[in-house]
Amino acid sequence: MTSTATAKSKTRKSEVTRYRMYIDGKFVDAASGKTFDVYDPATEGVIATCPAGGAADIDRAAQAATRAFHDGWRSVTAQERGRILFRLAELETLNSGKPIVESEYDMDDTATCFEYYGGLATKINGEVLPVPAEAVALAMREPIGVAGQIIPWNYPLMMAAWKIAPALAAGCTVVLKPAEQTPLSILKLAEDFEAIGLPPGVVNIVTGDGPGAGAPLVAHPKVRKVAFTGSAEVGKTIMRTAADQLKRVSLELGGKSPNIFFSDADFENAVDGALFGTFINQGEVCSAGSRVLVQKDIYKKFVDAAAAKAKTIRLGPGVDRETKMGPLVSAEQRDRVAGYLKTGRGEAKVAVGGGTPKQFDKGWYVEPTIFYDVDNGAKIAQEEIFGPVMSVIPFKDEADAIRIANESPYGLAAAVWTRDIFKAFRVVKSLEAGIVWVNHMQPTFVEAPWGGYKMSGFGRELGHWGVEEYLETKQVFINLDEKPIGWY
Ligand code: ADP
Ligand code: MG
Repeated sequence: MTSTATAKSKTRKSEVTRYRMYIDGKFVDAASGKTFDVYDPATEGVIATCPAGGAADIDRAAQAATRAFHDGWRSVTAQERGRILFRLAELETLNSGKPIVESEYDMDDTATCFEYYGGLATKINGEVLPVPAEAVALAMREPIGVAGQIIPWNYPLMMAAWKIAPALAAGCTVVLKPAEQTPLSILKLAEDFEAIGLPPGVVNIVTGDGPGAGAPLVAHPKVRKVAFTGSAEVGKTIMRTAADQLKRVSLELGGKSPNIFFSDADFENAVDGALFGTFINQGEVCSAGSRVLVQKDIYKKFVDAAAAKAKTIRLGPGVDRETKMGPLVSAEQRDRVAGYLKTGRGEAKVAVGGGTPKQFDKGWYVEPTIFYDVDNGAKIAQEEIFGPVMSVIPFKDEADAIRIANESPYGLAAAVWTRDIFKAFRVVKSLEAGIVWVNHMQPTFVEAPWGGYKMSGFGRELGHWGVEEYLETKQVFINLDEKPIGWY
């Protein structure tokens, strides 16, 4: 057993680092001894191995989190919890040495998230209620207990922060399972948990895949609440499992978000906004504006301009500073997206891209792709692709745009581009989405609520809403009347 997450393996090629998961303040292997490989998507090479956590490891972590909750964490003051979160934010800032342009923003956002909840920890308070009797009535806020958290691979460290920070602010303890594709950064961060004052068992990181480690985490009886970000399909499974114990659940399940362009929008900004909204992070974004709705009078010009600009997007490995779009996270994801490209070529017209690029002999790249003349009923307009694929759909007028935008099982995000403030607000009020941008798409702030309508899930992360998900409310009635009570 070592005190850090990593050890160079003697048995594999020298570049492969062996990671351990973090349970009860110690870096440990899986009870089964099994491991899985972690890949670099640009070289397709194995860069690390991680313990393949299973039910026994989840149990160890859930028991540790339960002990930590009852034996100490519950009585740690809000001030101290806040200070620990501030130290996590500092740690994050120190670690941000990555050369990748976009991930530098992510590191900043991660630190900001810890900072925000560090400040919020001391502002969680209950209420005194104006009951008529001679009494004092209170609504107290209490932490739920052990939170089980499952996150995806698209923003590994930031998703971990979105989950861990509000849970700790509320006074919960945590068992977090990172995605099997991207478990490394949070394990590195865990090396300093103890030094910044997080007692053993308060945050546990169990690595492993969905069925092996995620499913037993959801089912564990000591886990009182599950917070999940990922696919709608897995979200449904989690809700079914959680139903057996009536466990609290919050789900953020992605979407197929409309990005609506009226003809009076600033044209240059609009084209940029369409590309940014869809292609940022290779399109591996739950709020990707992948349904681009364009008013008919600018439609042709818009498609041409977007296609011309998309052709200039530079593909390459993430570590190259010139890179604007990297490879997809895994071979599996590349194949999924390539499947949608094939479907799309049969459903609509191709303005640019539509396949996998030829210039790389290694790496899970796909071309930034724009389909146009897409029918909103088409598969590429209804299903979440999670890759750099835009479907452009023409519309006639405001009513038409709203109708098409809302014709989706999802409702995570939407954006509307116009210089008419009356129209902008009418559309904002008509859209079924948890986040709506006007003349922009994607900026996200820790102060603002994040989450979806319809099949994009329920519950809200970030802001003070985020912490509500980890709190119970206890009603307390204190009798002040010394006369005999009741009528017996
Ligand atoms: P994707 O298929 O794009 O990776 P998923 O929704 O499958 O998206 O994965 C998101 C997270 O959910 C990952 O951490 C994954 O391991 C986890 N997961 C997958 N299947 C299950 C499951 N049956 N129960 C719990 N967690 C799961
Ligand atoms: Mg999956």
